[in-house]
Amino acid sequence: MSEAPIALLSVYDKTGLLPFAKGLKELGFRLLGSGGTAKQIREAGMEIEDVSSITKAPEMLGGRVKTLHPAVHGGILSREIESDLADLATNQISPITLVVCNLYPFVLQTQKPDCTLAGAIEEIDIGGVTLLRAAAKNHARVSIISSPSDYNVILQEWKESGKVSDETKRGLAIKAFESTKAYDEAIADYFRKMYSSTDSAADSKAGAGVAYQRVPLRYGANPHQKPAQAFVEQGEMPIKILSGSPGYINLLDALNSWALVKELAAAFEPALPAAASFKHVSPAGAAVAIPLDDREKKVFGVDDLKELSPLASAYARARGADRMSSFGDFIALSHTVDTPTAKIISREVSDGVIAPGYEPEALEILQKKKGGKYCVLQMDADYVPPEIETRQVYGISLQQKRNDCKIDETLFKNVVTTNKELTKQAITDLTVATLALKYTQSNSVCYALNGAVIGLGAGQQSRIHCTRLAGEKADNWWLRHHPRVLSLPFKKGTKRADKANAIDLFVTGNVFEADPSERSQWESLFDEVPAPLTKEEKEAHMKELTGVACSSDAFFPFPDNVHRVRKSGVQFLAAPGGSIMDAECIKTADNYGIVFAHTDLRLVSL
Ligand code: 5GP
Repeated sequence: MSEAPIALLSVYDKTGLLPFAKGLKELGFRLLGSGGTAKQIREAGMEIEDVSSITKAPEMLGGRVKTLHPAVHGGILSREIESDLADLATNQISPITLVVCNLYPFVLQTQKPDCTLAGAIEEIDIGGVTLLRAAAKNHARVSIISSPSDYNVILQEWKESGKVSDETKRGLAIKAFESTKAYDEAIADYFRKMYSSTDSAADSKAGAGVAYQRVPLRYGANPHQKPAQAFVEQGEMPIKILSGSPGYINLLDALNSWALVKELAAAFEPALPAAASFKHVSPAGAAVAIPLDDREKKVFGVDDLKELSPLASAYARARGADRMSSFGDFIALSHTVDTPTAKIISREVSDGVIAPGYEPEALEILQKKKGGKYCVLQMDADYVPPEIETRQVYGISLQQKRNDCKIDETLFKNVVTTNKELTKQAITDLTVATLALKYTQSNSVCYALNGAVIGLGAGQQSRIHCTRLAGEKADNWWLRHHPRVLSLPFKKGTKRADKANAIDLFVTGNVFEADPSERSQWESLFDEVPAPLTKEEKEAHMKELTGVACSSDAFFPFPDNVHRVRKSGVQFLAAPGGSIMDAECIKTADNYGIVFAHTDLRLVSL
């Protein structure tokens, strides 16, 4: 007669244990149990041996060592192959068929208000994790039951077929590995929090000899969402905090804007310094270093600065795309920050900056901003994120390959209109617009000119709404170049942000329809109250906006989009094809003489 199959039971959560043990007994199992598990089963009148009866060693170190023994793990890990069976025979070890194990409640323990570090450490299960992993590794032969909710299935299968099916064993193994993974994650998280200070700048300083992996965050998306943190599970945290203390949205903006400027700079040969101004995980502006003429310097509010380095030009353009949206932005710069760039940043209302490095004087300027609270982050320019990205929504993990598609001039080769004349400048602008879309919450449409975003419509559910929103922003951007805007008689000492708001009210004409209180407040900013821009003045000026590039993150479902972009001076268009209205959209572009490139690349970003 063959020997009875062995079930090893070692559970912290004893829910359903007794009926399960009874069921196993009835099916002819020989039961082995660790201290408390065996005691409970024995007290219920069932026969069970202590693990120590096979290890010939007592539980020791106050329960730290219970099942950690070759007699146990040899019995679990052995395969049905000659050499393993010979090893078992030599060492008088019996194979184990079923392992039933769940772990000490580490998370529950650490959630107790009076939990000490020593108390938490004692709740770290060692032998149980080893049981789970060993049995799950050998799932070809062994069933690992890590959840009481599976007890009945096992009894049922065994009753029906005298075994656990391969399919069930595989599912149980996955479950076991998932439970040990979550367990270790919780332990790592606990230590990360316990062993790092709450001062993010101090926390991220290298030099302790061990790589830091965590950035504590002030709070999550909202102040009531505490605690909050950022961490890497592998390797070093690529961000160093040089001053300030980032919040959750700051870090989302920093990481997305960094990715954008890194790609933007590298999209050109030779590389062009690039800058981005982010708000709420979408760019308000993005640009590459193209020198500014005198009018642009005035429009972007940098005409008083003597020296504009290439990086400073890129940031002036990025910040100038939509000055109102950029209020309180997070800035990304592709190259080491120099003094001219730091000087522009120092006088804008901004939350923080991320860059691969800072010249000493530039860092000094930035560290003084906001009374020392300005967030200055240094990014490891060589950092490459993992290929697979995971996030959790409502407790469910979603995984995808990172959007690592390359965007450069080759993307715009497939011109589908009669006019095929894509200028070098147009390719630069389409590249800027398309890369900005890659990092913009969808749906999105972006207009660009002179290497800079000039209008971006983000997060709209309908494409035409994106196209209109972006177009309105591009129109306002261009109206800000109107001579009457450039000579608005602001009172001396008017703040930069107040000027930006007042100019927006002026170019949109909103102030002239506003409530008298709002209007009088606006009027109080000027030495002399300006007359509205007339319809004719606006129309004449808008006619001068030409050569604009526009890109869309997904296809145009209707030609209304093409009609709309034309109103904002668009001459170059890029979007994926695939709409049943493609032919109509191309025909509309042809009617306007627009050059339209089908990219075959959808760039939805969420
Ligand atoms: P019992 O109540 O049977 O004394 O203990 C059951 C718990 O001990 C289970 O949660 C199991 O994961 C854990 N365990 C099993 N073997 C060992 C061991 O060798 N060391 C430690 N620290 N825990 C173990």
